[in-house]
Amino acid sequence: MNRSLDHTTSLRIAIQKSGRLTDKTTDLLHGIGIEFDNYKRNLMVKTRNFDVELLLLRDDDIPEYVQDGICDLGFVGANEVLEKDSKVSVLRGLNYGNCRLAVASQKESELLKPTQFDGKKIATSYPILTKRFFENVGVSIEIVEISGAVEITPQLHLADAISDLVSTGGTLKANGLIERFTILESETKLIQTQQALSEGKQQLIQKFLQRIDGYQTAKKSRYILMNAPTESVETIKVLLPSMKSPTIMPLAQTGMVAIHSVIPYEQFWDVMEQLQDAGASDIVMLPIESMIA
Ligand code: ATP
Ligand code: ZN
Repeated sequence: MNRSLDHTTSLRIAIQKSGRLTDKTTDLLHGIGIEFDNYKRNLMVKTRNFDVELLLLRDDDIPEYVQDGICDLGFVGANEVLEKDSKVSVLRGLNYGNCRLAVASQKESELLKPTQFDGKKIATSYPILTKRFFENVGVSIEIVEISGAVEITPQLHLADAISDLVSTGGTLKANGLIERFTILESETKLIQTQQALSEGKQQLIQKFLQRIDGYQTAKKSRYILMNAPTESVETIKVLLPSMKSPTIMPLAQTGMVAIHSVIPYEQFWDVMEQLQDAGASDIVMLPIESMIA
């Protein structure tokens, strides 16, 4: 299905039509300013303000659509990209849809470590990744390929263990299974076709990436505002792990200043306590919608 260099500029992006990745992906697209209407009934959606059209697919099909150049970009789990052995470029890891492909066996099972699985049957929807994992540790297994409800196969004596995607582990537990070891850690990836793209599309992708990077940095950052006595400014400056030097403005009340800065969210609570000790008051933290360096 190779395609020669195209001269259209509209970027075609594959997203999951309906499933675990859908809301987070559409939130991200809205978050970077791409506007589109409720799309649930359509397979293709045009966006209003960015030269992008969205193709809504089953997640399993996304790697192939991107590999073949039917879509230029796609949002899909690393697990699907690797299972399909797709020839695509991974542009970004997006830190949602996080999960792991793990091997689980029944509570009372003696199958705990990979080396104990020689000659055993493993049920999975991920035959390639599972087989490859055991081959790499020199263990020969039999795959029972199942497309859904893999977790009930040990009870039905269809398999000795399973290899399935896990996030919280609740489904495994409910089925009397215990997670034993991990085959792969996965998250949602933004992937790009390796087919040749027009100059216009390449430029659009650069713009798209810049917006995604801004959105992701913003998500990890907070805008922080506080009041402090002038004599505390030097101490406070040292405490703020600022991206840039903080803004310091005099207040009407003499001897006091307002300090504004951007800090990584994960440091907020530690820093806040130290700021209070240094004399800061009225500390306010605000989310940031986007940040372009
Ligand atoms: P589709 O109809 O699109 O084929 P699906 O049922 O195969 O949907 P979902 O269950 O929506 O797929 O999962 C989509 C992706 O979400 C997975 O491929 C994986 O990357 C990610 N994911 C995150 N946590 C989990 C989980 N606990 N179980 C399954 N997938 C998960
Ligand atoms: Zn699927």
